[in-house]
Amino acid sequence: MERLPALERLTACLARLPGVGSRTAERMALRLVRDPGGLARDLAEALTEARSRVVGCSQCGSVTATDRNPCRLCTAPNRDDGLLCVVEDPNDILTIERCGGFRGRYHALMGRISPMKGSGPDDLRIQALRVRVGQGGLREVVLALNTDVEGDATASYIAHVLEGCGAKITRLAFGLPAGSGIMYSDAVTLRRALEGRQPA
Ligand SMILES: [Zn+2]
Repeated sequence: MERLPALERLTACLARLPGVGSRTAERMALRLVRDPGGLARDLAEALTEARSRVVGCSQCGSVTATDRNPCRLCTAPNRDDGLLCVVEDPNDILTIERCGGFRGRYHALMGRISPMKGSGPDDLRIQALRVRVGQGGLREVVLALNTDVEGDATASYIAHVLEGCGAKITRLAFGLPAGSGIMYSDAVTLRRALEGRQPA
């Protein structure tokens, strides 16, 4: 097949998306350029619209509408401002919300410390967390990180960074399967893990 730089560029962009390998990116790109139903145009428009109307929440790091920043969860008046739940990924916020066992605020780190993936403390929203906790008013910071080696290392690092901040630092109780992520936990297990949280 002839080399087509435009197609190669599209493929390379798609391959940068999470969970998309080079073979899948190639198939997606071919489908996009050959689709007769206007898929490429629809996708381009949807991308442009989403990029202009959706931003990362300045407080929790989740996504929100451009004209509603901080997001609904960060501004809801009926939530406990003294309780902050720290998660790795904004998706974890949705999972915890669904289990219904938490009524405080959230802070997403946008990842975890992972030497294997070249992700260190400076790549995460740890400094933002420090500033937020430093503003005071928190009774407890719950570290709801995944239960594997990197999740544990990240939790220990944060517990160390927040030492002496005045708030109690806790972690989810055991009961979550070792090595599992928050997003794969069922609601009952997650609620129990939240209720039984222990000092970090
Ligand atoms: Zn928010």
